Amino acid sequence: MNRRFFLRFIICFVCIILYAAAQVFAVEMIHFQEQTYSGSVTYNETAQPGDAVFVRLSLKFTGAVRKETLKNPAAVLQLFKGKEQAASAQFFFTNPQNRSAKTADMLAGIPLSTWLSGEETYSLKVIISTENAQKKEIMLPFSIQKKQFVSERIVLDARNTGIRKDASPERRAQIEKLNAILATITPQDVYTLKPFTIPVDSKRITSGFGDRRVFEYTDKKTSTSLHYGIDYGVSTGTPVHSCAEGKVVLAENRISTGWSVVIEHLPGLYSLYYHMDSLNVQEGQYVKQGEKLGLSGATGLATGPHLHWEIRLNMEAVNPEFFLKEFSF
Ligand SMILES: [Zn+2]
Repeated sequence: MNRRFFLRFIICFVCIILYAAAQVFAVEMIHFQEQTYSGSVTYNETAQPGDAVFVRLSLKFTGAVRKETLKNPAAVLQLFKGKEQAASAQFFFTNPQNRSAKTADMLAGIPLSTWLSGEETYSLKVIISTENAQKKEIMLPFSIQKKQFVSERIVLDARNTGIRKDASPERRAQIEKLNAILATITPQDVYTLKPFTIPVDSKRITSGFGDRRVFEYTDKKTSTSLHYGIDYGVSTGTPVHSCAEGKVVLAENRISTGWSVVIEHLPGLYSLYYHMDSLNVQEGQYVKQGEKLGLSGATGLATGPHLHWEIRLNMEAVNPEFFLKEFSF
């Protein structure tokens, strides 16, 4: 065989492998050393619009440190678009029940809107404040890739048109109740740090996350909206499982989403399951990953049987597929 050709082939092959590895392991780790502590940050240095960025922060206190210093090593994560701060989130301890005096392990996540463009320059900043040390700021490079979202037109019958246009106090109260739940960030509620699993035994996705939708009503008028979750086209009666360990914070029948379940997994991180036929869980109950929540159906605003699965982080809908990969590092 031609040696030069062989060499080219090998280089090409290595490049492909490296490129593939970079796609899978786009995780960055940075170490730093301060007077009273050393630490590291691990995070996904690139994401798509609609994903999230998670940063794991580990601190190890060194030398003679007063004990009270360790009580409150508060840290904040900030996302910058150019020079402008676009979002921020507080770090929470990953083991709030069982913290060591010598170390601090924390996690923070920021949702990335589906409207963010891949053309802007982004960066992240971690600010660590311990009681007797100066504030430490760490700048992290970060980029958002380009993503094209699907556009779809959905023609609604009289029943679904009625649900979409329902302005009753009952529906408004249901929306306010759900929003209040999703806005709740409880730092000690750390139920899982593992990748999520899909809630139904099906890969048949009938509507994707972030689809730009135009609803057409019976009077031919239209309205636009964004699809906040993933729809799995499964027949009524398909078992629905919790995507991760957590606490059931809502389990009821709602006008627009039918029989619905909301589970809290981490501070500000919730999974939602809509249009179910029946529920097996109650509010306040703790569930394991994969535990049966009920059966899928077509209740509420639905043009056919399916499971709508949604993830919210700090109120914002984020791509559930992001959480199927390692996100807590
Ligand atoms: Zn849906």
